[in-house]
Amino acid sequence: MSAVLFDTHAHLHFQEFAADLAGVLERARDAGVRFMLTIGTDVADSRAALALAEAHPGLYAAVGIHPHDAADADDAALEELERLAAASPKVVAVGEIGLDFYRNLSPRETQKRVFRRQLAMARRLEKPALIHCREAHAETLEILQEEGIGEIGGIMHCFSGDAAIARRCLDLGLLISLAGPVTYPNARKLPEVVRLTPADRLVVETDCPFLPPQPYRGKRNEPAYLPITAARVAELKGQPLEELGPLMAENALSLLRIAEQ
Ligand SMILES: [Zn+2]
Ligand SMILES: [Zn+2]
Repeated sequence: MSAVLFDTHAHLHFQEFAADLAGVLERARDAGVRFMLTIGTDVADSRAALALAEAHPGLYAAVGIHPHDAADADDAALEELERLAAASPKVVAVGEIGLDFYRNLSPRETQKRVFRRQLAMARRLEKPALIHCREAHAETLEILQEEGIGEIGGIMHCFSGDAAIARRCLDLGLLISLAGPVTYPNARKLPEVVRLTPADRLVVETDCPFLPPQPYRGKRNEPAYLPITAARVAELKGQPLEELGPLMAENALSLLRIAEQ
């Protein structure tokens, strides 16, 4: 029997899944992935995420403007996002939001301003934030601290920092989410990050269609591959997957205030 898992970061409403979504969801459930969070990256995409979540049990949505698209986040866009988030109990988080200084698709100062505005939105909505951070850890942590993330709550998605950054995230009250890269032979700092993070602060994700775990590298990722990532995390924690999987799911259900079991 497979362990109950929660995929805390997926993009199931993306075009990549349009042709075979029913099969993708069926394989996810067969693999024990009972809960999934599909994440918006701009206003139209957030609307698509919510529509998909409304149509499927066990599927939830997050609405947000990705740092890549921060330049398009005008007042109207942010107001529409807040309206969407308030309109449905299926929206359980604000995200993904944050800073991406690797690709710099929007100017850095714009990314910072839009990140702060969406953290303020999460606070008003009383929903946790899903944080995207690439090559911008110092600036991301500074903003999270200043905006009071401890009271908002959140997940550092696809964690890519080192042990010191993980400790700072934990001090700020965040959960740490591991994705496919923890299974890569060159995962470098991630094994140490997993070992130092208490089990009640860990969650896992696919970030599908991106970042498949080791055996599927180069292919499209999907939630059915989540057990591979979860098994590696369990191995690093020295805990059986049958124990840690449901505990990590419980961590996510509790943060996202999902009552359904
Ligand atoms: Zn991301
Ligand atoms: Zn994502």
